[in-house]
Amino acid sequence: MRTTYIGLGSNLGDSKQILCQAVAKLATLGTVRVSQLYSTAPMGPQDQPDYLNAVVELKTTLMPLALLDALQAFEQESGRIRLRRWGERTLDLDLLWYNNQTIQHERLIVPHLGLLERDFVLLPLLDLNPNMVVKGQVLKELNVVQHTMLQPIANNDWVKQTTQ
Ligand code: ATP
Ligand code: MG
Ligand code: MG
Repeated sequence: MRTTYIGLGSNLGDSKQILCQAVAKLATLGTVRVSQLYSTAPMGPQDQPDYLNAVVELKTTLMPLALLDALQAFEQESGRIRLRRWGERTLDLDLLWYNNQTIQHERLIVPHLGLLERDFVLLPLLDLNPNMVVKGQVLKELNVVQHTMLQPIANNDWVKQTTQ
């Protein structure tokens, strides 16, 4: 089993429902634990709705590219269309971290490039793994974590069935 972390985001449609469905789909790939739920201002274009964000820990036997294929299939099944960079979408599933591996592939960079800069990724990640270290950085000590205003809007029971 490999431990992986997946970032979830949605700002189109019934985002909470879409994220719950995504967690259920991820649970078909292994064992999942779910972070608290966060509501966050958009990154990039500002003329789009706020996002709901969360992180899922997935313990799986899938190899990295097979996991990425599954994440992209789940995005497509949610009806994702991509209009502009960092624009609105029904579902974004980013592979944040894969078993402490570094991956540089044309389709997949791990750890995810935005991980250390984004409070909407770091806070839910820390819900699941408070002492996590990525690229030598103790996440809970990062400035962006220390100075964020981000607060969870729901604790980790927002998805009732979190394990399978
Ligand atoms: P960002 O990656 O900055 O959060 P985004 O999530 O909006 O932006 P996408 O349109 O979802 O970007 O993905 C663009 C491409 O990123 C995908 O085609 C995918 O192959 C590639 N990619 C590279 N590394 C990863 C990763 N760790 N997780 C998911 N996709 C990745
Ligand atoms: Mg993303
Ligand atoms: Mg993405």
